Amino acid sequence: ASSSASSSVEITVNSPDQMRELGRRLAKLLRAGDLVMLNGELGAGKTTLTRGLGEGLDVRGAVTSPTFVIARVHPALGDGPPLVHVDAYRLGGGLDEMEDLDLDVSLPDSVVVVEWGEGKVEELTDDRLHVVIHRAVGDTTDEVRHVTVTGLGERWAPPVELGVLSA
Ligand code: ADP
Ligand code: MG
Repeated sequence: ASSSASSSVEITVNSPDQMRELGRRLAKLLRAGDLVMLNGELGAGKTTLTRGLGEGLDVRGAVTSPTFVIARVHPALGDGPPLVHVDAYRLGGGLDEMEDLDLDVSLPDSVVVVEWGEGKVEELTDDRLHVVIHRAVGDTTDEVRHVTVTGLGERWAPPVELGVLSA
């Protein structure tokens, strides 16, 4: 398997609603075994995007920022895969705690989304989506976000897949 970047797309998002909509569209590309890493500062919109993913995947329960848990499983309401939503913010460099989540066990049958996953979940698979959300530097009131979605590995090699996100 290749670990080189295979495709990348940049999307400008103007509101929380548009971020959820992006999540719903991204969900249509996802299937069991897919890993999505979300990065971007606090308040960037990682959880908002994941909420849209949960809507698009049609899973039980609204995606929230978990207060007491690191990972939450949202079972599928229909035939699709469940969503495993991990917020690794409180996991320092703690790879041990990450291993306790047994993501390697759940990944083959789930869509796994990890906020703050960089440096913590790369060993799970070479096939990953990296989503990075930026806002204008220093601007905490603006709702504009720049989202870069990069597909790594053979899973995401066909560029047409991610292209639908910017359409
Ligand atoms: P994170 O998980 O990255 O810390 P959240 O999704 O929990 O971020 O919070 C994002 C916050 O920013 C929410 O309060 C949301 O209403 C606000 N917001 C403003 N504009 C946007 C946007 N374009 N996309 C996502 N969230 C936005
Ligand atoms: Mg969050």
